[in-house]
Amino acid sequence: MITRSPTNVQTNTIALHEDASTRWQTQLARAIRDPRELCRRLDLNPQWLPGAERGHELFEVRVPEAYLARIHHGDPDDPLLRQIVPLAEEDVATEGYVPDPLAETDQTPRQGVIHKYRGRVLLIASPACAINCRYCFRRHFPYQENSPSREQWRDSLAYIQQDASLREVILSGGDPLASSDRQLDWLVGQLDAIPHLKRLRIHTRLPVVIPDRIDDALSQWLSRTRLAKIVVLHINHANEIDDAVIKACQRLKALGATLLNQSVLLRGVNDSVDALDALSERLFDADILPYYLHVLDPVSGAAHFDVPDDEARSLVDALRSRLPGFLVPRLVREIPGEASKTPL
Ligand SMILES: *Cc1c(COP(=O)(O)O)cnc(C)c1O
Ligand code: SF4
Repeated sequence: MITRSPTNVQTNTIALHEDASTRWQTQLARAIRDPRELCRRLDLNPQWLPGAERGHELFEVRVPEAYLARIHHGDPDDPLLRQIVPLAEEDVATEGYVPDPLAETDQTPRQGVIHKYRGRVLLIASPACAINCRYCFRRHFPYQENSPSREQWRDSLAYIQQDASLREVILSGGDPLASSDRQLDWLVGQLDAIPHLKRLRIHTRLPVVIPDRIDDALSQWLSRTRLAKIVVLHINHANEIDDAVIKACQRLKALGATLLNQSVLLRGVNDSVDALDALSERLFDADILPYYLHVLDPVSGAAHFDVPDDEARSLVDALRSRLPGFLVPRLVREIPGEASKTPL
C-alpha cells in the first residue's frame, strides 16, 4: 500500500536513501542482472541463452521484478520481453551504427552537463538506470566520467547560473530518479535558487519500472520547489502501464507535475498502428500525454530494432486518422548539430 502513517513518514525522512530497506531501493538492488536467471525466470527456451550471455557482455542485463511481472511467459514476441532480453544480434556490426550516435560527448561544457538547445540544459543526474533497455542510445555512454561529485555539481550549477538564457533544467541520466532523495533534494534546492530558471523537467523511466519510487520522500522534495514541474516518462507499449504505474502517475499529478511521454519506435515492440493506438489510449488513462515518438538512434548493437523512415511516417499518418490530435506523438529524429529534434 502507498498510504503510510505519519510515523512511517518520519522514519522515511530520516532513513531516506541510504536505508536499503526502503522499498524502491530494495527493488532496485534486487533487479535481475544475470542473463541465466533472466532466461530461467521467463521460461525461455535454452536456445536464447548464448545470445543473452553475449549481449550481456556488451551491455549488462538489468530488469526489476515489477517490470518482469508484466511480461507474458511463453510468448517470445512479448513487447516488454523484447525490450530487455539481450540477443545475439547485438553483436552484429551494422554500417552507420556507432557507439555515440548523438555525438553527445562533444557537447558537454561541464562534466555531466549537455547543452544542445537554446533555453534548456540537460544534467546527467545519475549514471545508473533501473532497467537496461537494449535499444538505449546511451548504452555505450561513458557514465563513469559523467557521474559528478558534489564539487563537480557546483561547477555545473555555476554554468547554469551564468547563462541567463536558460529557462529549464532537464534532469536525465541514466535515470535521475535512481539517485537518492537526499541528493535530488539538494540539487533541486540549488536550482530553485537560480532566478532565471522557470522549469524543472525530469526524464525518467523509474515510475514505470519501479512504481514504488514515487514515495513520500520523493514527494517531499518535489513539492518544495518553486519551479514548474514536468515529468517526461518513457513508455513504449501499453502493457507497461499497470495499476501501480497509474497510481504513481496520479501521485505525480497531485504534486502538480505535467506528465508527458516519449517512446522509441521499435521493431517487434510497437511497430504497428494498433500498438501505437493502444499505447496512446493507455497513456491517456494514466493522465499522460504523448510527446515524442523517436525513431531509433543508430547506436551499435540496436540495428535489429530499426523501423525505416517511410514506414514510421505511414504509421503515424495512420495513427492521426484514428486518434484526436493530442494523442498523436510528434515523430522525430535527433540529428547532431541541429537546434532541436527534427520532425520526420
Ligand atoms: C532532447 C533533448 C532536450 C529536450 O528537447 P525538447 O525538444 O525540449 O524536449 C534537451 N537537451 C538535450 C541535450 C536533449 O537531447
Ligand atoms: S531507461 Fe532510458 S536511459 Fe536507461 S537504459 Fe532505458 S532507454 Fe536507456
